[in-house]
Amino acid sequence: MINLYTLNQGDLAELIATLDEKPFRAKQLWDWLYDKRVGRFEAMTNLSRATIHKLNEAARLGDLELAAQQVSKDGTEKRLYRLPDSQLIESVLMPYDDDRQTACISSQAGCALGCVFCATGQMGFGRHLSAAEIFEQAMIFARDLAARGERLSNVVFMGMGEPFHNYDASLTAVDMLMSRLGIGARHITISTVGLAPQIRRFADEGLQVKLAVSLHKADDAKRSALMPVNRRWPIAELMDACRYYVERTKRRITFEWAAIAGENDTVAEAQRLGRLLAGLHCHVNVIPLNPTGGYAGRPAHAPDLERFMASLRQYGVKATVRVRRGIDIDAGCGQLKTAVIDADAIR
Ligand code: SAH
Ligand code: SF4
Repeated sequence: MINLYTLNQGDLAELIATLDEKPFRAKQLWDWLYDKRVGRFEAMTNLSRATIHKLNEAARLGDLELAAQQVSKDGTEKRLYRLPDSQLIESVLMPYDDDRQTACISSQAGCALGCVFCATGQMGFGRHLSAAEIFEQAMIFARDLAARGERLSNVVFMGMGEPFHNYDASLTAVDMLMSRLGIGARHITISTVGLAPQIRRFADEGLQVKLAVSLHKADDAKRSALMPVNRRWPIAELMDACRYYVERTKRRITFEWAAIAGENDTVAEAQRLGRLLAGLHCHVNVIPLNPTGGYAGRPAHAPDLERFMASLRQYGVKATVRVRRGIDIDAGCGQLKTAVIDADAIR
C-alpha cells in the first residue's frame, strides 16, 4: 500500500499507469487530494467504482493514525497521532478572530536539544519525521477545514522537535505546503532553537518563509542553563547568523521570548536584550511560559511584563506580548507532551 501523500505529480502518474487507468485520472486524483481535499476515495465522485476499488487496494491517504484529540475553550484543537512505528507526535490548529487558521506542526518525534522548560525537550529524542509526515499534519487540518468550507491559511513549525535539526525534510515539507496546499511562503514560519549554521543556510535558500529564533535569555551563562544548545552556538555566534539572515534576505527576524517569572522578565534583562537587538530589523514575541512538569519556572506576571516591555521600547526594539492559546489543554506551541497524553487520554 502506497501513501499517496508521499507521491509527487510524476509518481502519481506512474501509479495510475500501473493501475491501468487513463493518464487524466492522475490529474483528477491530484485535484481531489489537494484542491478539494477529500479524505476518502469514495468521496471522489468522478471516479468509477472500479477505479475506487483499485485505489483502495493499492493506496492509502496518509500514515498518521489519530490517537487522541482535545479541543480548548478558545477553539484550539490538539491532535495526537501514532506513526506506523508507534512514535507519537502532536499538532495543533489555532483559529483566530480574523479568519486565520494556523496549524502548528511537529518536525520530529521528541527533540534532542533538551531545553529545560520544554515538554518536548524533557521527553528526549525519538526520531526525525519524513517530509510527508510533517506535511500530513497540516494536510489533515486542511482536509477537516475544507469539509466545513474553511481554509488552512498559516503553518508554524513550532510543534515538537527542532526543524533545523531535520533540515532537509522540513524544507521539503515547506515546499509541499506551498505547492500542494497553496500556502504562501509568508504564511509559513520556521522556529529554531538557534542552530547558527542552519540559519545561514536558510538565509541562502532565497525563500520568503518567516524565521523565528527562540532566544529567551540575553546572557550566555543563563541561556546555556535553559538551553544547552547555547554552549555549542553561544549568543554572539547566534546573533552573527541572525544578522546574516536579515542582511541576506532583507527580511525581519522574529525572536521568541518565553517570559519566566523572575528569570527573564526583569528590567535588567530587558536592557540586556535591548542592547543585543538594538538596530536589528526584528520583532520580539513575548509569550508567558507554559509551565511544564519537569521545570519549576512560572509564567511572568503582568506588571513585570509591562515594565519589561517599557524598558525594551527604550531601545527601539519592537515587541508584542502574545496570548497563550489552548492553555487548558496544554496546546501551547513548544509545549506538546505526548508522554502525558499517552498515559491519560488514549483509550
Ligand atoms: N525547536 C523549535 C521549535 C519548536 S518549540 C524551537 O525551539 O524554536 C516552539 C517554541 O515554543 C519555541 O520558541 C520554544 O522555545 C517555545 N517553548 C517551548 N516550551 C515552552 C513553554 N513551556 N512555554 C512557552 N514556550 C515554550
Ligand atoms: Fe527542542 Fe525547541 Fe523544545 Fe528546545 S524548545 S527542546 S529545541 S522543541
